[in-house]
Amino acid sequence: MRRSIYDSDHEAFRGSVREFLDRHVIPHTDRFVEAAGFPRELWIEAGKQGFLGLEIPERYDGSAAGDYRYNAVLGEELAKVTAALSSCFGIHYDVVAPYLVELTGEEQRRRWLPRFCSGELVTAIGMTEAGGGSDLAALRTTAVRDGDAWVLNGAKTFITNGYSADLVIVAARTSPDKRAKGITLFAVEAGMAGFTRGRKLDKVGQTESDTAELFFDDVRVPGANVVGEIDRGFVHMMERLPQERLGTAVSNIAHAAQILKETIEYAKERHAFGQPVGSFQHNKFLLAELVTQIEVSQAYVDQAVMAHVEGRLTAVDAAKAKWWTAQVQNDVLDACVQLYGGYGYMNEYRVARAWRDARVTKIWAGSNEIMKELIGRDLGL
Ligand SMILES: Cc1cc2nc3c(=O)[nH]c(=O)nc-3n(C[C@H](O)[C@H](O)[C@H](O)COP(=O)(O)OP(=O)(O)OC[C@H]3O[C@@H](n4cnc5c(N)ncnc54)[C@H](O)[C@@H]3O)c2cc1C
Repeated sequence: MRRSIYDSDHEAFRGSVREFLDRHVIPHTDRFVEAAGFPRELWIEAGKQGFLGLEIPERYDGSAAGDYRYNAVLGEELAKVTAALSSCFGIHYDVVAPYLVELTGEEQRRRWLPRFCSGELVTAIGMTEAGGGSDLAALRTTAVRDGDAWVLNGAKTFITNGYSADLVIVAARTSPDKRAKGITLFAVEAGMAGFTRGRKLDKVGQTESDTAELFFDDVRVPGANVVGEIDRGFVHMMERLPQERLGTAVSNIAHAAQILKETIEYAKERHAFGQPVGSFQHNKFLLAELVTQIEVSQAYVDQAVMAHVEGRLTAVDAAKAKWWTAQVQNDVLDACVQLYGGYGYMNEYRVARAWRDARVTKIWAGSNEIMKELIGRDLGL
């Protein structure tokens, strides 16, 4: 079904993203996997193209797109090439950007945003701790006021861009007995004494993304690095999670749709018993079902994108988009692996990598169970 949410300006932007990917990413994907990370030159190149500052006002060197559809186009194109790229870049331009634009003062914006846009300042966000990620209000990293600074102690885990980030937004407890009402956000910067990182975590998929544990041992964070209001960090995160979840939904569907397209071509070319494997009725019907699942899901995601552009996306609708697309993506990619037969299990085939890369989307940014919990609560249950 023809999609209708993008106009010629969005499509021209899509063209420039594709050109960037053709030149700077596709020839080097194996190298990124081996290095378990994207090199800084790639961030700088993306910065030059204006991709990192889509949400940043022009006065801080941003490209101020003023329309979430540009974020969506970028997320789609990155995910089609590698899911890890859309998650690493997405954390920066789609997830962290709103925190640094909406919750900061003029001095902070001047200090961070120009380098955020140029790719010199790579960012991450640290919510999850080893003791639990779903129950965010129970986090245990602490920040205690000391003069005009705060002293942070604790640790975060599974942090995307955690190994390479220059600035991490860290959620820490500032009021011990107040659960959700006692959390504050801090910008912890590379080089602050007591801020260290563990090794790059060894993941099942998305090998190119650097995911790490972060440790805070008496880290003195100046008061000038508080992001948002004291004790309002939980609300700040909840208000921004719908965009994060929409961003993952956009990437989930684009990723699965691209691999499905490649699988259909494979099923036409690969022969068994003297005929293309896709022409067996079982496989033909299977592919018909997968294409339908993708297109119907895409229609919902497109509506959610438009709702967000118009400022009316609810947290519950974002949760629906997030869990549903994660499920569809995983179901579709599992079927694609099957259609490739033994080659589908070989890492050198994109389908195998995509299948592994997709598994995490049912877990992160709020697991499918947590999304259903939110939806169920909205039903009054
Ligand atoms: C590759 C990767 C990258 C990540 N990047 C980041 C990042 O950049 N920043 C960040 O802060 N975090 C990040 N995360 C963490 C991610 O958001 C958490 O893993 C996720 O929120 C789940 O938390 P948990 O792992 O502690 O699982 P737990 O909270 O321990 O949950 C375990 C299981 O119990 C289920 N469960 C929990 N509560 C309920 C409930 N009430 N009802 C039903 N089931 C429930 C969960 O759905 C899950 O299946 C990342 C994780 C991964 C794997």
